[in-house]
Amino acid sequence: MENKVEKLVIIGSGPAGLTAAIYGCRADLDPLVFMGTKYGGQLMLTSEVENFPGFPDPVLGPDLIARMKSQAERLGARLVQEDVVRVNFRTYPFEVYTDSGVTRALAVILATGANPRRLNLQSEMRLMGKGVSNCAVCDAFFFRGKKVAVVGGGDTAMEEAMFLSKFATSVQVIHRRNELRASAALQKEAFANPKVSFIWDSTVVDVLGESRVQGVRLKNLKTGSEGDLQVDGLFVAIGYDPSTEIFRGQVELDPKGYVAVRNGTESSVPGVFVAGDVHDFRYRQAITAAADGCKALLDAEKFVKTRLEVSVAS
Ligand code: NAP
Repeated sequence: MENKVEKLVIIGSGPAGLTAAIYGCRADLDPLVFMGTKYGGQLMLTSEVENFPGFPDPVLGPDLIARMKSQAERLGARLVQEDVVRVNFRTYPFEVYTDSGVTRALAVILATGANPRRLNLQSEMRLMGKGVSNCAVCDAFFFRGKKVAVVGGGDTAMEEAMFLSKFATSVQVIHRRNELRASAALQKEAFANPKVSFIWDSTVVDVLGESRVQGVRLKNLKTGSEGDLQVDGLFVAIGYDPSTEIFRGQVELDPKGYVAVRNGTESSVPGVFVAGDVHDFRYRQAITAAADGCKALLDAEKFVKTRLEVSVAS
């Protein structure tokens, strides 16, 4: 095992991880960032971003990540395009494993994000960012005066539907059962919204359109019959899976599998901090993840400083 101990390892390279890296360089922590082989997170699947401050013209999601990445690199962050396969937070310094070896670190920031669940249709992936979206707050604006559909029956689907109703002419919620999972309050609001209607017991079997969404093919799960619905946008809101598998048993996770956070950005293990969608299922925005990355870094900086003072004193 290498003797070198990193001051800070960051796992993840969405807005949370890269912001932590930018601040980490400025705090002289010389951060090592394991970006993952598929780096960049959800923004890599987003087309135009219009709500990230500082960009008066829309910026493409991958371009926004590229800018954050080059900002971190310019400041001296070491960005490694490798997946972390295992961590050991029961030992100190902490151990972070990739296929090429083990890295030891005084502090670690977890910023691995969450993945929106997919319908697992080829057409859904092909038209992602071209009418298929997982984020109404990000993309509703592009559907002003258009017709959209939302898939899902939970809180997220209801919130997405209501947000979309401010822009779209109609919002049809497609749900696989005949009752919603969403909270009573959100159900009440959605049922009372004149622009929102429901298609029950149905699932999307195909997204139609060559270069942009033109409709969806639906299957009624009770009768088996299929039919097409003309819409300009499809919002898939069937839940999220946090990327926490490698942290299971190492830090406390909440019942939904997100990293449990206390006192700002602390995990259950002192020295392991948390930023972005890997703990936050509420806000899930690029800007809130970036802010979280900053906060986690400020907390990590204090922690590392204390550890270095202890090691100098002993
Ligand atoms: P969720 O509660 O897991 O709901 C997912 C919905 O998608 C369910 O209605 C489910 O159908 C449906 N679904 C799942 N897989 C599907 C598939 N393959 N095809 C079609 N439909 C599918 O997820 P969520 O709505 O994202 O909420 C996640 C958590 O965050 C929840 O605990 C929620 O309360 C919380 N949250 C809270 C708020 C708030 O308080 N304002 C806002 C957003 C989220 P079934 O119902 O048939 O299983």
